[in-house]
Amino acid sequence: MEHAVAPMRSAYGDSQLHCFSFGAHEEENVLCVAVDGYLTSRLVRVQSACYTAEIFRSVDCDCHEQLDQSLQRVHDQGGVVVYMLADGRGAGLLTKIRGLSLNASRGLDTFDAYRELGVEPDPRDYTRIAAVLERLGLHEVKLLTNNPRKVEGLRRHGLVVDRVPLEIPPTTESLPYLATKRQKFGHLLELVPGASEREGVDSPSPEVRD
Ligand SMILES: [Zn+2]
Repeated sequence: MEHAVAPMRSAYGDSQLHCFSFGAHEEENVLCVAVDGYLTSRLVRVQSACYTAEIFRSVDCDCHEQLDQSLQRVHDQGGVVVYMLADGRGAGLLTKIRGLSLNASRGLDTFDAYRELGVEPDPRDYTRIAAVLERLGLHEVKLLTNNPRKVEGLRRHGLVVDRVPLEIPPTTESLPYLATKRQKFGHLLELVPGASEREGVDSPSPEVRD
C-alpha cells in the first residue's frame, strides 16, 4: 500500500487529504479526508462514489447529501471521511447505468435491476477500508451509516464499530430509492419526510409501501 498526504483547504474547513494506493488502477486508490481530533472523536464515514449524484447532482438518491453532511460533521467534531472510488456499490459505472436504465424502462428497483443483470446487489468489500483505518490508528470507530452490512463488513476485519445514524429526509425523487434501501438492503431508515433544504421543493408526505 503506497501512501501520500497533503493539507487541504475546502469549503468545509481544513483537513489532511490522504491517498492510499492499492494498485495501478485509479479505482484502487482510497481517499481519506482526515480532520484533527479524529483519534478522539473516532467519527468515521465510509462512502462509496456516486458520480451521478456527487458530480452531476442527480436527485434520485441521497448520496450527495450524505457526503455533504458527513464532511460537515467531521469538520465540526474531528473525524475521517473514507472515500472508495467504487461506483454502483462496487459493481462499476456501466452496471450502475444499466441498472438505472432498467429502472426507467421497466420500473425495476436497484436491487432487482442488479439481479436481472446477474450482479450481486452489494458486492462491496471492506478489506482496504479496514487497512486504511488501522493505518490511521483507528481500531474502534463510530461509523456514520444506516447500513448494517457496512458495520458487519468492518467488524469482520476486526474493527470495533458503533453505528451513528446518518439519515437524510426523503424527497419525492429520492423516496423510491430510499424505500428500496430499507426494504431490500436492510438499511435502518425512518423515511420521515423533513423540511427539504432544496429551494422550491415542497416536503412530500409520501406513502411508504412495505
Ligand atoms: Zn447515489
